[in-house]
Amino acid sequence: MRPVAPRALSLLVSMLETSGGRVVEDMLDAADREAFHVLHDSDALAVADDVPAVMCPACGDHAVAPRKISGVLQGLCPECGYVEITNASLKAWAVDLEWLLGRLRMAFGIASRQDSEELVTGAMWKVGDYKVGRHSRRIVFARRLADHATHKAFRDTLAEKIERDNAVIISTTSRSAAMVSDISMPYVHLAEIVHLRSGKLERDDDRWNWCLKPAHLRQHDASPVFFEKFRVAVIDGEEYEFSALQAAVLAYLHAAKVGKCFKDSIMYEIDSAQKNPVELFRHNPRQFEGFSRVAEWNDHGYYWLKRR
Ligand SMILES: [Zn+2]
Repeated sequence: MRPVAPRALSLLVSMLETSGGRVVEDMLDAADREAFHVLHDSDALAVADDVPAVMCPACGDHAVAPRKISGVLQGLCPECGYVEITNASLKAWAVDLEWLLGRLRMAFGIASRQDSEELVTGAMWKVGDYKVGRHSRRIVFARRLADHATHKAFRDTLAEKIERDNAVIISTTSRSAAMVSDISMPYVHLAEIVHLRSGKLERDDDRWNWCLKPAHLRQHDASPVFFEKFRVAVIDGEEYEFSALQAAVLAYLHAAKVGKCFKDSIMYEIDSAQKNPVELFRHNPRQFEGFSRVAEWNDHGYYWLKRR
């Protein structure tokens, strides 16, 4: 069983990132529905103003117009005939942005008297100012930066209102899609900088310390990918969870810096009876995918981490 909290955080990210960003509970698959309930129970969702077309619950391909027929809500699907419509399908949910900004302020310990401020309508906010000694860091949240118009508004606002090297940008747009490689301020994905726990967003301290480093040190940082002692890897906003033994492999490879490590040495060091690291990952498709994204290996049994 995969833990549901990372799944909920990634649903939150996708709802924030896609335009519209509304979900209808009945249209979600089982895994997403579980994630949806976590977000709902955390008060992260609010009823959206407009409900998208109601889709046929049987095939999901056709929009149907719900109406009450002999006391039961039904819709006529061209393929499936009359199908029952539940009340849940008439309600769409979106991320409650006030909740998000409030939880981010809490996660960063920003004084409760500080309010967040919208800088670009629906796309960019000043979350608050984080005090470090006598200095302060402006925390900015931005989303949908792959969209051309939003991106331009984001750039203009950065130039006008945000002091260079004095801000940390948190976003739901992956770094590559956001095209921000020229920006010297730290840019982190929301799923990297916070974790969802018991309805709250908790700051990832390793990642946050990385954000506070001067630019030249940030580029040489050891790991912008691994968290929680290698139990979690975040790649372009996608979060992967690993077992303790799998994490030990990643830690071993990481400690070797750029060197290649032989399978026998790795397995001996982590005290595993398996014959090589791939054997430890291959039974779980998700973990294997994560491993394949961070590590490489060759036919001779040598393993190494990809450079990032
Ligand atoms: Zn249908």
